[in-house]
Amino acid sequence: MRTHILYTGGTLGMVPTPDGLAPGADLTGWLDQLLSGTELAGTFETLSFEHLIDSANATPADWGRIVDNLWAHREEADSFVVLHGTDTLAYTSAALSYALTDFGKPVVVTGSQYSLGVVGTDAAPNVTGALRAVTSGRLHGVAVFFGHKLLRGNRVTKSSSWAYNGFDSPAAPQLARTGAPWQWIENDSTGCGWLDPRPYRRHDVLVVDLSPGLSAARLQAVLDPLPEAVILRAFGVGNVPSDEPGLVDVILDVISAGTPVVVASQCMQADVLLGHYQSSHALAEGGAISAHDMTLEALYAKLVFLLSQGLRGKELGRWVETDIAGEISM
Ligand code: ASP
Repeated sequence: MRTHILYTGGTLGMVPTPDGLAPGADLTGWLDQLLSGTELAGTFETLSFEHLIDSANATPADWGRIVDNLWAHREEADSFVVLHGTDTLAYTSAALSYALTDFGKPVVVTGSQYSLGVVGTDAAPNVTGALRAVTSGRLHGVAVFFGHKLLRGNRVTKSSSWAYNGFDSPAAPQLARTGAPWQWIENDSTGCGWLDPRPYRRHDVLVVDLSPGLSAARLQAVLDPLPEAVILRAFGVGNVPSDEPGLVDVILDVISAGTPVVVASQCMQADVLLGHYQSSHALAEGGAISAHDMTLEALYAKLVFLLSQGLRGKELGRWVETDIAGEISM
C-alpha cells in the first residue's frame, strides 16, 4: 500500500518569520521521523507544491491544481493525503469530492492548528490519523480527518479557529469513531457521481447574508451587476424578511433575470424548507432553489463546479438539488 502525500500550504508546514507564519518547514524530514519504526515507514512519498499558500488565498484554480496532481500520481499510489491550510479546507475538500467521483481511490484532507515544530502540535495526530484512515481499506471518496474525527469531505465546516477539534459535520454522521480500534460507521450515501468533469474555473458566485433591518435598496446595490449565481443565507429553514418593502421583489427580479438564487440557512445545522413559513412562500413560488442541508462550503464549491461544467438556468438548479457526491441528504 503506497500513499501519495501532497502539501499545498497551511499552518502545518509553516515556520515563524518576521512577517508572521509562512511555509518553510522540512515536511519530508518530519514525516520520515514521525513514521519511522511504524508500519507506514517507507510506504509514502511527499510532494510539496512549488508555490505554497495560506489557504485564505485559495481559489478554484488551486482546487484544480490539486485535482490534477492527484490524477498525475494516481497510478503510483493506492491512497492520497492532501495537507492543506484549515481556513478554506472545507471548500477544497468539497471541491475535490465533486471533481474526483470517478477517481476510485481514497483521499483524505487534513491540516493543523499548530505548526509541526510546536510542542504538543496537532499536526502529528492529524497526519497519522489521515494516514490510518486512507490506508484502512474502508474509505471511499474524499474525507477530512481532523481532531480525531473522520468526516465526509463535503459535509465539513471549520467550527473553531483554535480548537484541536476544529471541524464539524453538522448534518452528517462521522465516518468513523477513532479509538483502539476505530469504529467504522456504515454510510453508503455517495451520490450519482460525475464522469469526466471539466476543470474548475473561477465563477462569479455571490454569498449574501441577510440581517434584521437589511433594506431592499442595499440588497439591490449588492446584486448590481448580477452575478452568475447567488447564495442567499437566510434565517432558520430559509425564511427572509418578507415584510421589508421591496426586499422579496429584489430577489424575485434576480431569478426572473436568469440568475439562480439558492436559499441556504445561517444555522449551522439546518434543512431549508422553502414555503414552510409564509416568509419564504414567495421565494418558493418564484423559483428559488433550496440548499437543503448542504454546508455553505459544499454549496459554494458545487455551484462553481456546476458553472465550470457549463450548466446554467434551470438545469443548474436541478443539479444543485441532486446528490453528486454525498453532499446533500435527499
Ligand atoms: N491561515 C492558515 C491557512 O489556512 C490557517 C491554518 O492552516 O490553520 O493556510
